[in-house]
Amino acid sequence: MLEEHGGEPAADAPVIGFPLALSLLDHLPTWHTFFTRLGYRVELSGATRREIVRQGVARVPAEFCHPVKILFGHVHHLLDRGVARQFIPHLRLAVPPGEEEPRYACAYTQSAPYVVRANVEAADVVCLEYPVPGEERHWEQTVAEVLGRDRREVRRAMDAGQKAQRVFTEGCRQEGERYLETLRRRGQPGAVLLGRPYNTMDRQVNLNLARRLAAQGLAAVPYDFLPLEQEPLPFFWFRVRWGYGRQALQAARLLKKDPNLCAVIVTNFGCGPDAFVDQYLEYELSDTPHIVLELDDHQAEAGLVTRLEAFARSLGQYPAERTEKATGMDPGRSFQHLRRLTYTTSRTFRTTPTPTPAPCARRAATWCCCPPPTTSRGASARPRPTAGSATPTSSSPVI
Ligand code: SF4
Repeated sequence: MLEEHGGEPAADAPVIGFPLALSLLDHLPTWHTFFTRLGYRVELSGATRREIVRQGVARVPAEFCHPVKILFGHVHHLLDRGVARQFIPHLRLAVPPGEEEPRYACAYTQSAPYVVRANVEAADVVCLEYPVPGEERHWEQTVAEVLGRDRREVRRAMDAGQKAQRVFTEGCRQEGERYLETLRRRGQPGAVLLGRPYNTMDRQVNLNLARRLAAQGLAAVPYDFLPLEQEPLPFFWFRVRWGYGRQALQAARLLKKDPNLCAVIVTNFGCGPDAFVDQYLEYELSDTPHIVLELDDHQAEAGLVTRLEAFARSLGQYPAERTEKATGMDPGRSFQHLRRLTYTTSRTFRTTPTPTPAPCARRAATWCCCPPPTTSRGASARPRPTAGSATPTSSSPVI
């Protein structure tokens, strides 16, 4: 697709490196087409690998969040390959899908090109701002000066880039629609990854999360495969300034309408906006099963697997087919019972009555973990221990 929109560069075209981290992963169609149309040969740093993570952690100049460390890893990886001229976009504002007002990128994302420029002397950092609606003329003028090109040439290249981005986004939405339809048809549960493209889509950063979810019977769906433009946020959320945070909220409001879907919130240690956004997400998802995974450079996979197993088990999916049914143990309930608490408006919740559980056959024989039966006045019928009843009797619980 990138070649289709950008065309094939000349053999002697100037080379520009793209460290594939932060917002460049999200806006790759825009910027790749833009530079290719201007006659550059784009050299991608490639998928994140363990070695890139190691380099980033070792060379980052301060304690940034994990994605910024990954950026430093990609920058040094390109330098090792002899690509000194590198493009790092300055994403200041972007309009979330279906909304009108541009919203901010976080301070780390905005400052990333300047931090790299100040700390990696060998890199010749080219920094252009992502165009903001209403500021096009100023943007064209600035970019033409930075690149030493004609202003009209710059505008044409950016028009092609934005068209490529729209085609890419539309392709993601169509793929997402097909995927969700397949899940519904099969009755298979899906887990929507809520985060940012640079942590939901990067396998090394999220420790192969999609495969690990699939191993637990949950099909992973990236949040930007959902039709976010159909869910502009209501006024209730007008104070959320962060563009990616708003998109995650849009995805949360969409996924909770589908009883097949649960949410996996992917965040990173040291993320400023997520200190707020994660709480907003938990508010939106209060009646929907979800888990928060905070990833950092420890890259410890065992802890992640344990949490995913516990999450899947709480949904009633994990090894019900494989082990618990075989051993006769309770495989757990389907997570759909949580939908009894139904979200109705931004501030109002409605509950439907809980059906009375069938009496437990084991209660008469021995202790079991069912809630005690209640009397007509609502008090527990299970005898309360008193000061004189400390000695176990034949009716005491067996643990
Ligand atoms: S949004 Fe969070 S994770 Fe992303 S760059 Fe900013 S601080 Fe880091």
